[in-house]
Amino acid sequence: SGALAGRVALITGAASGMGAASAERFIADGAKVLLTDVNVTPGRELAASLGANARFFELNVADGEAWTSAVAYAEKVFGPVTVLMNNAGIHGGGFIEEYDEADWSRSLAVNLHGPLLGMKAVVPVMRSAGGGSIVNISSLQGREADVGLISYVAAKFGLRGLGKSAAVELGRYGIRVNTVFPGLIITGLTRGQSEHYMGRIPFRRPESPTRSGAASDVAALAAFLASDRASNITGAEITIDGGKSVR
Ligand code: NAD
Repeated sequence: SGALAGRVALITGAASGMGAASAERFIADGAKVLLTDVNVTPGRELAASLGANARFFELNVADGEAWTSAVAYAEKVFGPVTVLMNNAGIHGGGFIEEYDEADWSRSLAVNLHGPLLGMKAVVPVMRSAGGGSIVNISSLQGREADVGLISYVAAKFGLRGLGKSAAVELGRYGIRVNTVFPGLIITGLTRGQSEHYMGRIPFRRPESPTRSGAASDVAALAAFLASDRASNITGAEITIDGGKSVR
């Protein structure tokens, strides 16, 4: 039972933060989940703690061959992947005047090329299964730009465009593609950079010591987009930022 009963979901970057919260949420909603990450030990531990409907597989999203193996592994243990959450991400920084090619390449490889490789790997499986749902995690930085983050901003804006293109291309197969733009959430990625940012968020949640959004907020949205409740939603762009970007 549950809104995701019968679904097999592959989540990238599932060892931490929003990916981990989404794995928990998807399982609570009835899905079988392949947690993937480059960070193996916490990923395995989390999957073990989530029971028989969770498995872990090591996957660097920038590695196309690893994608093929991960999708095949999911099919072997659970069945064809019908939900893909492209969540893995890394911060890329930089000012144009301090452009660092390695940082730029790394950010584009993980934050933008990774999701493309993921879509390429799951589309044949989803087509055969009669459809699927892809949820891409961009960032508020993929809608508006803070200074000094060129590698991250460019990749996350790129992911927005990739999501739109994919929605248009894949709709005919019953594959929905939606993009989520989270505001600040305290995770491994952002710990320590919060105070400066927090004053600018209208919802200063009293229940949260950090007053930021919670990873579980993003997980709930991803679970909705993955489910048939969102069956007529594709190409959508949903900001989840406690009102920070409201003008
Ligand atoms: P996090 O650092 O807690 O988790 C990200 C996970 O991705 C980590 O477990 C890491 O090991 C994994 N990862 C990194 N490189 C990888 C690779 N090449 N292949 C596979 N896995 C890899 O971060 P988070 O805050 O949960 O971020 C999740 C997503 O949300 C990211 O795409 C991030 O850019 C985005 N985001 C985060 C925030 C925020 O405030 N935390 C805001 C907007 C968007």
